[in-house]
Amino acid sequence: MRDNKENIISIRNMTAPIGDILLVDDRPDNLRLLLNILKDKGYKVRCVTTGAMALRVCHRHPPDLILLDIQMPEMNGYQVCEKLKADPETAGIPVIFLSVIEEATEKVHAFNVGGVDYITKPFQVKEVVARVENQLQILRLQNKLKEQNIRLEKEIRDRQAIEQQLRELNREMKRSNQELEQFAYVVSHDLQAPLGTIASFAQLLQTRYQDQLDGKALQFIERIITGSLRMQHLIDDLLQYSRVGRMAQVFETVNCDQVLSQALANLETKINETQAQITQDPLPAIAGSSMGLLQLFQNLISNALKYRHPHISPRIHISVSLKEDMWSFSIQDNGIGIETKHLERIFQIFQRLHSDKEYPGTGIGLAICKKIVELYGGKIWVESCPFQGSTFYFTIPAQKPQDNPLMEEPKS
Ligand code: ADP
Repeated sequence: MRDNKENIISIRNMTAPIGDILLVDDRPDNLRLLLNILKDKGYKVRCVTTGAMALRVCHRHPPDLILLDIQMPEMNGYQVCEKLKADPETAGIPVIFLSVIEEATEKVHAFNVGGVDYITKPFQVKEVVARVENQLQILRLQNKLKEQNIRLEKEIRDRQAIEQQLRELNREMKRSNQELEQFAYVVSHDLQAPLGTIASFAQLLQTRYQDQLDGKALQFIERIITGSLRMQHLIDDLLQYSRVGRMAQVFETVNCDQVLSQALANLETKINETQAQITQDPLPAIAGSSMGLLQLFQNLISNALKYRHPHISPRIHISVSLKEDMWSFSIQDNGIGIETKHLERIFQIFQRLHSDKEYPGTGIGLAICKKIVELYGGKIWVESCPFQGSTFYFTIPAQKPQDNPLMEEPKS
């Protein structure tokens, strides 16, 4: 029944005003009376005098509402109504029965065959208008609902299409990232051997032929060696960058205290050289890869040592707090700081704020940090003030993230 009504609403022109009424009564005086009442109210009214005619009209041009007399010769109102309700094309048209009988059983019968209301004769003008208007109002509301449903369904379809596009883009991005990583890996790996040859032969020249070469030649050789070393750093960093993706396949419980100790041990020479004071909060155990965490701590602390204040010895503090379901780590230094306009771009690969002479580097360290943090579903950012120091923050979910689109599927 509900389905049928929906069918009808979808067939009729939803923008046309609702108010097309069909009167069905074998008595012309009744028809005339109702016609006058309803025409006065501005409705479009059509009249027929038999059930058969009513069925034909309903098929050709379905009205919005039918006022149907019960006592008619040949086919009575109940029969007409049953036929209308049995046909999906006309089942949704609401029917108000007209009768002189006040019997409750008659009314019940009228509702049983699908009527929506019941008006008794002699007609009271106000009652007829109120009951008709009531049904038409229900129709209007149903139409409105139908329109809203259509709009909502369209919105849902649009959203699903966008989500599908995003999923495809993600897949595509993941694929091209992997290709790029693979490319960077192969290129940097293959560059290592010839570069090693250049560097070691230059060093041989320097040591074996020192006495036979003039100052200019030795200076050139020195340049070759520094250039090769710089290139070696670049290759090492690029290799590290291209390995980050593979690291995401690893999920283990990482004791951050131990990882930090390892990072500090790796940086021991630099720490002693700069007389840095390093302090830390007790750190938690988290889900991730110890390799990734080690790289994160090591890159950030090594930067804090490298970009230290020229006149103050470095003070670095590592702290952590649990905010909602994220661990939030911070590495605070008292170094040269960063101007606000550069705070975002330093996380992009090859973005540096100084020349190699001022501070040697490749501009890959923070890009590696960003990649690691994002692979584990976190974020990285920095707050800083020139000459007062910087605090680098990164977050890592306390739980292993399930739906990170960038996260690689663990290999089975
Ligand atoms: P690199 O140190 O090799 O240049 P990074 O990606 O590690 O590359 O850093 C990018 C840039 O961000 C650095 O060149 C430096 O200008 C700035 N930077 C990073 N860490 C700090 C820090 N702790 N204090 C001041 N500047 C920093």
